[in-house]
Amino acid sequence: MDRHERDLMDYTKEMMEKKILHWNYRGITELPISLRDKGTAIEELYLKENKITVIPPWIYQLTNLTNLYLAGNKLKNLPEEFSVMERLKVLDLSDNDLKVVPEGLKRLKTLRELILDDNSLCQLPLDIADFEELEKLSLCGNNFVSLPEWLGSLNKLQRLLVDNNFLEELPNRLTLAQSLEIVSVCSNRLKHLPLNSFVSPTMIYFSCNSNLNYISYSLLSQFLELGWNDGKSFFPRNLNISEMMSNRVLQLSVDLSMEKENFNGTAVVRLPRQLIRVFRMENREPPSLWELSLRCLFSNNYENYLNISICPKPDMFHSLLFNGPLCICLNNQCHQPMFTEAWAAVGTSEEISLLIVLLFCSQRCSQTFDFLSHGIKVLPWR
Ligand SMILES: [Zn+2]
Repeated sequence: MDRHERDLMDYTKEMMEKKILHWNYRGITELPISLRDKGTAIEELYLKENKITVIPPWIYQLTNLTNLYLAGNKLKNLPEEFSVMERLKVLDLSDNDLKVVPEGLKRLKTLRELILDDNSLCQLPLDIADFEELEKLSLCGNNFVSLPEWLGSLNKLQRLLVDNNFLEELPNRLTLAQSLEIVSVCSNRLKHLPLNSFVSPTMIYFSCNSNLNYISYSLLSQFLELGWNDGKSFFPRNLNISEMMSNRVLQLSVDLSMEKENFNGTAVVRLPRQLIRVFRMENREPPSLWELSLRCLFSNNYENYLNISICPKPDMFHSLLFNGPLCICLNNQCHQPMFTEAWAAVGTSEEISLLIVLLFCSQRCSQTFDFLSHGIKVLPWR
């Protein structure tokens, strides 16, 4: 009996005796056909760091399989038959050769954990918006530049891990995710974090985003409530950013010359694309009818919009409502949602050396806010 045959004998014995198979680091190039016939009782299958290039179509006959770990193989795709594996709860496909999310994965609506780290993905298919049981989605080490807004509609999503990608912003609707606890977006190209605080107690890990130089007051307050104390070390000392050319995005030039040690010169604060008009605190102009109707409609239909996963109509008006407000007015008595227009103040805090952006729904709200008692020193902006 040669080594190969002996291995197969061992494998078959294991399959019949165990519900969990640990077949990591075994140099396996393809799944043994005996697994199909003898492995129907198996619930967890570990196949990490092998040399598997193709998953056979009969995989769906492993009807009791709940956890499948395929990290560190050479998979480019999954078979269509994969889509009927309704018992599957955990699927780890990290460190393979995936360029797109495989078709066979798109109907696995009962998945709880989907791990796709270290592939070459840049898009999530809309089908994942129906993964209502999904608790953990990990996309680290891929090529994502943006993430879809509907991620914020995954009601059970607790952990979203997207470190080491090329993200420039996060979906605004993420702040409305009901169960979110952790968002990790270290080493991306974020220009800003969401301005609004999250509806659930969510912590964001965002080190190594060198373009990020401010935080909104709402988010900061939430982080501090959650015990965040890294603020002092997070932001680069040199806040001068040379790219001031973009005309699509509103940016505020903040004069830092009045600040003593930590800042000097001018800082450029790039606001989210959604914001199209920003007023100074002395500006008496009312918000536009467009903005007022968004505020009014959202306040009246808030629940409805939270409960849908896909934007009902693809026009800008509906997608703004679906994505949710950019920020809630900071004035305690007000709490109006804001979408595309706001009165802005920029400041620094005594305790935490970073720029803070505060948005209000009207001039009145901006002028009645007590900056002093919130420990904020207001800085001039252009
Ligand atoms: Zn207000």
